[in-house]
Amino acid sequence: MADQGDAPDYWDTSQKILVVLAHPDDPEFFCGATTARWVRAGHQVTYCVITCGDKGSKDLSISSDELCAIRQKEQRKAAQVLGVEQVIFLNYPDGYLIPDLKLRKDITRVIRSVRPDIMITCDPQTLFTQFGGLNHPDHRAAGQAALDAVFPAARDHLNFPELLQDEKLEPHIVREVWVSGTLVPDTILDVTDTWEIKITALYEHKSQIGDPEQLAERLHNRRTGDSTPENPRYEEKFRRLKLG
Ligand SMILES: [Zn+2]
Repeated sequence: MADQGDAPDYWDTSQKILVVLAHPDDPEFFCGATTARWVRAGHQVTYCVITCGDKGSKDLSISSDELCAIRQKEQRKAAQVLGVEQVIFLNYPDGYLIPDLKLRKDITRVIRSVRPDIMITCDPQTLFTQFGGLNHPDHRAAGQAALDAVFPAARDHLNFPELLQDEKLEPHIVREVWVSGTLVPDTILDVTDTWEIKITALYEHKSQIGDPEQLAERLHNRRTGDSTPENPRYEEKFRRLKLG
């Protein structure tokens, strides 16, 4: 890999990174190439996927429970492709996510257990996406709850005190949060080297992607404006918050 000494994610030591997003397939769509880049650089990545993704089908014969099992299996395979070590599922129903105190507590528990240096989530303020669509309400709820969990709930022991008293989960400060799916990015990673592995990981979400060739074409079309089909360059963008 090229020298990353001046890259915004250049860290001297191996980092623990926690990705908190709403649905199976979100980690790959939002930040799969970044995850692959970080795994290659020696960092440890854990996923926390909040919902089962159990509404994501047009097949009238499939139940939510069946779909949940399929999607979690697909998510584990996609994580494996990228080298993600652990996938935690919170098993909330798809489509109905609300950033309430129960969800905040569940994410706080994950943060205090995994104890990440860096957390990735998505921007709860994105109502209309950069691609001209509507952002999924679960994405907004997941981002809101994850940010509320990181600060101040994970940090301060009097927030959800039962986590410390009953579960022995000490407070934890996440040093940086990288917010994906944002319309106001301030940090851009060149992920050209890992764009193909992102697409390969997305292929594992077979129940979601339809024609894999169309997916590949769509993702190849996301090359930067200053590159060409023969010499493409790809980026993933974040808003980066330094908290600790
Ligand atoms: Zn999603």
